[in-house]
Amino acid sequence: MDNGTVAEPETIRCSECNTALTEGQDRETTEDAVFCRPCFNNLTAQLHQAVAVQGQDINYSMAAVGGLAGAAIGVLVWWGFTVVTNIAFGLVAVVIGFAVGKGVVMLSGDKRSQGLQITSVIISILGFVYASYLVNRTFIMSALAEQGETLVLPWIPAPDVLFNVLQLGFGFMDAVFLAIVVYEAWKIPAPFRIGA
Ligand SMILES: [Zn+2]
Repeated sequence: MDNGTVAEPETIRCSECNTALTEGQDRETTEDAVFCRPCFNNLTAQLHQAVAVQGQDINYSMAAVGGLAGAAIGVLVWWGFTVVTNIAFGLVAVVIGFAVGKGVVMLSGDKRSQGLQITSVIISILGFVYASYLVNRTFIMSALAEQGETLVLPWIPAPDVLFNVLQLGFGFMDAVFLAIVVYEAWKIPAPFRIGA
């Protein structure tokens, strides 16, 4: 039912340059904005440009440095949390995936590509494994200390030590947390796509 009021015809302005659009003037209406033709063409060109350069001239060494820095932060946060609270709260581990992904994107110069996604995932898995080692190491050493035994596990473990220590505390939830870590690390450097 029509209630009889007629809205004043509102002046429509280009969302970019704020020019009033005269009736019949060529324009582009998107979901939440209206653009004059030159602005729309400009923005479209910029967007295509951004998508085109996102995967060009990627500095993978810097990306790896960024990823490793992110991993170091994530590992310290998780391990620190565990040592301070004395709880192995695995969910904190997802910080690793987030920090690695962000680090990779940041130091690669805001680039995004599948190569960066793979870089990010590999580094975050290494970070997760090492953080898990550190957490277990802390718990094992303090459990033994309570029984009056002294065992010092190395900071950088040999593969067999790493495997044995990880085995002691790896459960279903760790697999879930690892999956979240990988998902975050994969998603953050994912390339933008137009209209996909
Ligand atoms: Zn405009």
